[in-house]
Amino acid sequence: GGSGTTQSDLLRARMRLSLQEHLWEFYQNNVNIPAEEQAMARRAALDICAELRVFLHAKLPDMPLREMYLSGSLYDDLQVVTADHAQLMVPLILEKNLWSSIPGEDTIMNVPGFCLVRRENLEYFPRKSSYWDRCMVGGYLSPKSVLEVFDKLVAGSINWPAIGSVLDYVIRPVVPSETLTLEVQYETHRKLYVDFLPLLVMEDGTSLIAKPHRLAAERHENLWRQSFRVAETARLRALDQEDGGCRCTCLKVAKAVCKLNPALSRINASQLTNAILLLSGKEGDWTEEALADRFLQLLRELVGHLEAGRLPCALSPKVNLFCELTDQEVDELGYTLYCALSDPEGLLRT
Ligand code: GDP
Repeated sequence: GGSGTTQSDLLRARMRLSLQEHLWEFYQNNVNIPAEEQAMARRAALDICAELRVFLHAKLPDMPLREMYLSGSLYDDLQVVTADHAQLMVPLILEKNLWSSIPGEDTIMNVPGFCLVRRENLEYFPRKSSYWDRCMVGGYLSPKSVLEVFDKLVAGSINWPAIGSVLDYVIRPVVPSETLTLEVQYETHRKLYVDFLPLLVMEDGTSLIAKPHRLAAERHENLWRQSFRVAETARLRALDQEDGGCRCTCLKVAKAVCKLNPALSRINASQLTNAILLLSGKEGDWTEEALADRFLQLLRELVGHLEAGRLPCALSPKVNLFCELTDQEVDELGYTLYCALSDPEGLLRT
């Protein structure tokens, strides 16, 4: 061996070049959303958010909420394919001395990344001392019950046709929906889905969202989900800024691939973001010229994590970001991605 550049090296180099070209082409044509389309979607979401603020202040002046705000990939320039969804964050205010959080690993469910929120001091501050006592189930603040409060309001007592006609949108709550979602038609062919996401910011800075555990057995119903989204997105962006890297581009390409391939639809933005953050710890070259190499490596890493059945959260390694997948889903995802390693271009054919 050792006879310099071989035929197969050349072939491999040519294939890589072509993957590199195809990835950028795919990025331009399928992944990236025109600025104007993003602006229209943001506008529609903002109009709805403003209406809801007015409505809630008028209708429920004593509900302890901080100001609602919009968030998600549409606001971080990380949305892909179509500008069609956003989250409306609804931060609840909890009395510090009445509620405390218990990490999921310290409960019988043993699920890191989730928490229980326990009502404290009931003997001195009896039921109804806190507005949110109405959402207490078995001594814990129930995210399901919190969602039901908003569901009643949003689906029951808001006159969406009236608000919609003022704003020139067609707005309707999506039923059934696991979270609480509004469908907004804002141009003849454009639809935007806005999820209500009740949120708790605990004293130690932990953010908990009312998004149920996917494999929710009854005993999981009281679990709040810890959210790392703000921190993990900020870290990814900061790394790119330090070295002019293409991590966000790589993330967007991978998100689009998973969105456009039904067999990969179970892979979400958080898993991809964390896989890239973990890969950043091993791999230094994130220049645009390395996009194809990093993309292939990301696929290989994902296959490895799936084989292990475990993808640690980069910001909290005890959290397994695959914990809501069934064994069968893990196997199928692993198989699909493993096959894609030998034909990565196949992933880009839409
Ligand atoms: P995309 O929807 O795939 O473009 O990915 P995003 O980065 O916008 O993530 C949105 C998803 O993350 C939703 O399913 C949310 O329920 C979940 N999520 C978890 N924490 C947060 C958070 O702090 N803000 C938002 N907007 N979504 C969050």
